[in-house]
Amino acid sequence: MKIVQTLFFFTAFITNSYTGDFCYDEEHCNPYSWGDTFPSCHPIIGEHHSPINLDHQMSRNLSLEALKLEGFGTAQTGEWTLKNNGHSVVLQVGLGMEVRGGGLPADYTTLQLHFHWGSNSTNGAEHTVNGRRYPMEMHIVNMKTVHYPNLTAAMEDPTGIAVLGVFIDVAEARLSDSFSLLSNLVPAVAYKGKTVRVKPFPLSSLLPMNNMSQYYRYHGSLTTPPCSKAVVWTVYEVPIYISYKQLSQFVSGVYHSEEGAHPSALLYNNFRHIHDTFSRKVYASTDATLLSSANLTVHSLLLCLASVLCAGLP
Ligand SMILES: [Zn+2]
Repeated sequence: MKIVQTLFFFTAFITNSYTGDFCYDEEHCNPYSWGDTFPSCHPIIGEHHSPINLDHQMSRNLSLEALKLEGFGTAQTGEWTLKNNGHSVVLQVGLGMEVRGGGLPADYTTLQLHFHWGSNSTNGAEHTVNGRRYPMEMHIVNMKTVHYPNLTAAMEDPTGIAVLGVFIDVAEARLSDSFSLLSNLVPAVAYKGKTVRVKPFPLSSLLPMNNMSQYYRYHGSLTTPPCSKAVVWTVYEVPIYISYKQLSQFVSGVYHSEEGAHPSALLYNNFRHIHDTFSRKVYASTDATLLSSANLTVHSLLLCLASVLCAGLP
């Protein structure tokens, strides 16, 4: 019972730490103004901000193998909670899952996952890839296990939090059953403050399991206030796929206002703008392909070959 009580207060703390006086759609509280209320969100203070654009200006790191995701392959016991916190839809998971390896400096306990989305299928994700923005991005948030459950300590540690970022793209042919389970619950948490219980399922079912060794790594920040410089980012290269209907359940079905508020306000475009990497290194894992220099070289050669061949045509 004590564990349950601890978890209750902890998840409340987590939720509150991700909420506060910020928004995405009004001038006085949108991401460009967060620094007024949360000084560490100010882009002039520090060069650590997230998200960033991922491009070919990165280094291959041969020590970056696939992460070990303990407990992700089985349905955990207990009960999870899906919540609309006014800024996103958050799945608060119980204890039992840990993330380690893949160049992470420690073991991390999985806390929650949440989503960022746009207003149509051409925007929504936080990180961009060569300037392209996927329609959604899922963040699995983990805190350094030695700090658990002290989230304040984790946010003050430069590597206190590890976030796994997964791009979500739209394709009618390849649907994720587990994503359906969550998206079908979205109407139950349409309004800010609403929660619904979720039966635990293997989190691996939300991941690009055939491509888990392909990712990018850099040090950055939380993408919501207080924008703590505490995050080891792992952004997977290959997206998972959902349907337009599933995407629209988020884009057209989630409000950042409470039930009964007039006027009601849809929550969309809940992504922070891109920040400069400055002197930060961005690494590609051993198996990352899309942005690797080798891949670009082949691509460039093919383009060059095509231009030569085409130039020879009448
Ligand atoms: Zn996020």
